[in-house]
Order: sequence, then C-alpha cells, then structure tokens
Amino acid sequence: SDVLRLPLPDEASTMTLGEDLALALKAGDTIALSGDLGAGKSTLARALIRAVADEPFLEVPSPTFTLVQSYDLRIPVSHFDLYRLGDASEVLELGLDDLAANGICLIEWPERAEGYLPRQSVVLTLEQDGDGRVAIFSGSAPVLSRIRRSLAI
Ligand code: ADP
Ligand code: MG
Repeated sequence: SDVLRLPLPDEASTMTLGEDLALALKAGDTIALSGDLGAGKSTLARALIRAVADEPFLEVPSPTFTLVQSYDLRIPVSHFDLYRLGDASEVLELGLDDLAANGICLIEWPERAEGYLPRQSVVLTLEQDGDGRVAIFSGSAPVLSRIRRSLAI
C-alpha cells in the first residue's frame, strides 16, 4: 500500500506538519502517532491542536496521567497518551469510539491499544533521522490521499 515519507529536519518542521494537518483533517479522522520517547509526537500534537484552536499559545499538556484530553474546538480534538494504559480494551472506557466518530483523535502510544483503534486510522510514525526526524504515513487510503493533496506531497 501507499507509504508517504516526509523529512522533518528540525522542530519547526514538525510544528509546521502539525499545522498543515490541522487544515487537512476532518471530524472522524484518527491519527495514531507512533515513535519512541522524544520522537516529537507531543510537539506535533500540540501544534495541530493550537492550529485547530487558532490560539498559538493554548496550553496543551501531555495527558500522561489522565490518558486523554479533549478540546472543544471548531472541530473537537481529543489527544490521547496511552503510555500508562493497562489492558488495550481500556481505551474504550476513555470514550474512544464516540470521540473518534465526532472529532479528530490524536493517539500517542497507539501500540498500547492494539486491536481497539478505529479501522480507518492513519499511522504517522516519527523516526530519528540524523539530528532531525522523518515522518512516515501509512494506513487509511482515503485519508492519506486527502492529506497528500492538502500538503501537496
Ligand atoms: P514525544 O512526545 O514523542 O516523546 P516530544 O514532542 O515531547 O516527543 O519531544 C520531542 C523533542 O524533539 C523536543 O525536544 C522537540 O524540540 C524535538 N523535536 C521535535 N521535532 C524535531 C525534529 N524534526 N528535529 C529535531 N528535533 C525535534
Ligand atoms: Mg509525548
């Protein structure tokens, strides 16, 4: 299937990707943000949420202990950090299905909820690449092609 690779040489380019995705995504889209600790998942999520909010200084704390933080914006956005999730099925108790149906879901540590994520998700993996990162997109073909058109990549 289609895989998209986008180099992210510095933090600013990760933030720009988040801002660009804010324009491409719609309610009903789920982005699984994969990658090691320090890969840039929260940096990207914060930029995306601030862009949807149109508030460049909006507080976007990592939902490390609450596991999910929802933002009531133009499009509702829910930001998950599943690092501390117990059993994978517990993601459903966080309201994932409703949040995914009605807004944008950004999910850090999606591997913790293996088997319980919406079927039409896009996986955005951030990998170390020299001093920078590379973004690798895979998953839902219709959402990927919308992202590709919107980002002109
Ligand atoms: P994660 O949520 O994946 O653990 P964070 O976003 O909290 O990662 O932290 C990522 C770190 O990497 C931050 O210090 C950020 O400035 C830096 N960073 C983000 N994107 C890039 C990039 N493309 N190139 C270099 N450093 C980056
Ligand atoms: Mg994080």
